[in-house]
Amino acid sequence: MYDFDYRKPVDLEEALSLRRRFGKSSRLLMGGTDLLPAMDGGGPVPELLIDLKGIEELGGLEESPEAVEIGAGVTYTDLIRSTLIRKKFPGIWESSRLVASTGIRNVATLAGNICNAVPSAESAAPLLVRDALVRIASSGGNRTVPVTEFFTGPRKTVVTDREIVTAVSVPFVKGEFGESYVKLGRYRGEDIAQAAVAVLVDSSLTYRIAYAAVGPVPLRIPEAESLLQGRDVSPELLAAGREAVTAAISPISDIRASKEYRLHMCRIMFDKAVTAAAARMAGTGPEYGTRLV
Ligand SMILES: Cc1cc2nc3c(=O)[nH]c(=O)nc-3n(C[C@H](O)[C@H](O)[C@H](O)COP(=O)(O)OP(=O)(O)OC[C@H]3O[C@@H](n4cnc5c(N)ncnc54)[C@H](O)[C@@H]3O)c2cc1C
Repeated sequence: MYDFDYRKPVDLEEALSLRRRFGKSSRLLMGGTDLLPAMDGGGPVPELLIDLKGIEELGGLEESPEAVEIGAGVTYTDLIRSTLIRKKFPGIWESSRLVASTGIRNVATLAGNICNAVPSAESAAPLLVRDALVRIASSGGNRTVPVTEFFTGPRKTVVTDREIVTAVSVPFVKGEFGESYVKLGRYRGEDIAQAAVAVLVDSSLTYRIAYAAVGPVPLRIPEAESLLQGRDVSPELLAAGREAVTAAISPISDIRASKEYRLHMCRIMFDKAVTAAAARMAGTGPEYGTRLV
């Protein structure tokens, strides 16, 4: 039996006021697919659980000319079902389909995924290549943090115990572009990534490359990005990019994979992800949603 209070605020103002009053004695609950198993497994039990699911203003996708705002209450199922996400943010769509199983995706949120901040978080790399922005509110005001600065360590982010993530803003890419997301798992089904890579290439041949589960936090690989800048994909370019990735990542050995296997597969995944993104931009690539490893 756990002993904690439970509140389900009806609006953000009430949630922020509870957060201000209870601070580090409170925890935020969204889908609960990370938080509840962690509490069940002996993790810290808060004095107050603030359930955000009843807050209407956190739900929904809001489109502006520059970006889509993914509300903190938006689930993976919402993302997968959205035509806007499928057509304009295919990397997010492709990665969302690989999270867990239908039952989990029906309640699990993209915001909860990045706030939980495990190094393998499915949404991290696709948001990093999009230069997404995280909207954070507190009763003292709002702030916006680039996702590149959001993760500070395993299970750690810039969000303080008085704040709530309200949305993630993801800019549109102008003109033609291609994306890809490659997840390495032990099997097909409910398993978190052994390693993952997301790539975005646009019509100026600017490449953005991000990896997850290869170090303490998900990260962009600027050394590989600048090598590829302005160039068409070729075997020589892929070989150079692969070396840059290998030098930049620092995977560990754990129950999911050895460091050596991760390093080896990250090189293969680099080739597949860059090639698929470029081919998708050209209209000749594998359909979005095709598993590449
Ligand atoms: C069987 C199973 C399979 C899974 N498979 C995968 C997988 O394939 N890939 C993957 O990446 N993950 C996987 N997960 C983990 C989990 O489902 C995801 O990380 C999910 O996106 C978490 O979202 P949630 O809404 O359930 O978060 P919750 O569990 O509600 O919250 C997670 C953390 O974020 C905090 N938080 C939530 N919302 C906010 C907010 N708005 N502002 C600030 N902090 C907030 C919570 O306090 C908590 O610390 C799996 C989990 C299970 C149980």
